[in-house]
Amino acid sequence: MTTVIIILLAVLGAAFGSFFNVLIYRLPRKQSIVYPPSHCGDCNKPIPFYLNIPIVSYIMLRGKCKYCGASIHWHHFLVEAITPLILILLFLQYGYQGQFMLFLKYSVLCLFLIPIFFIDAFHQIIPHKLSIPLIPLGFIFALIPGSDITILESGIAAAIIFFFLLFIAYAYRFARKVDGLGGGDIWLLTGIAAFLGLISMPYVILISAVLGIIYFFIFVRNKEQGFAFGTFIAVTTILWSLLGSTQMLLNLRLL
Ligand SMILES: [Zn+2]
Repeated sequence: MTTVIIILLAVLGAAFGSFFNVLIYRLPRKQSIVYPPSHCGDCNKPIPFYLNIPIVSYIMLRGKCKYCGASIHWHHFLVEAITPLILILLFLQYGYQGQFMLFLKYSVLCLFLIPIFFIDAFHQIIPHKLSIPLIPLGFIFALIPGSDITILESGIAAAIIFFFLLFIAYAYRFARKVDGLGGGDIWLLTGIAAFLGLISMPYVILISAVLGIIYFFIFVRNKEQGFAFGTFIAVTTILWSLLGSTQMLLNLRLL
């Protein structure tokens, strides 16, 4: 049974990954996500379904367009490979232990965070279409029996994080006369708070900031340009979910 579920998750995850590649390309360019159908970004030739099979097609075509030979960026393959991997790891963390509700909840959260990670990394924006829905979704999951937080905890966490970050953003702008924290980051962290509850949030924010600062000092040459905080928030929250949110808090002796 477990093997069947893992195979199904691998197929489903690869299909989601393929869809995320469409989102990653089109959302920042404000293009429709349904029309036109998949096409090469260079020669605009439509991609037939048999060349649009996640992972397999990329390997068969060796990362190049069949018609014009333009190379397909490696992130397409990465997205199609990590999405099933994350779903399978979440199943082993939650579903396999009988916590199907939590498996569903953290899968939904991570499925939003994967395209957010890449879009923020490539374009320094977090589309509201991906961040804001996390807030009502977090509340809905908190209402379902078997959730790890109550609706009260979810609502309080979202409200506190939202107003706290709004205050920080205004204070920073007032003091430095520039934007330090973008609106996208605020919506994203509010949505994550609705999923994780308040106790996890200082850790998620702190770890994201530490990862971001390390990256900034090692890899960013031009220190004048801002850096994509959402990318680090997304990766930290995915890791936190994979390791088990409640388990992490128990390990930190906070529950
Ligand atoms: Zn082409």
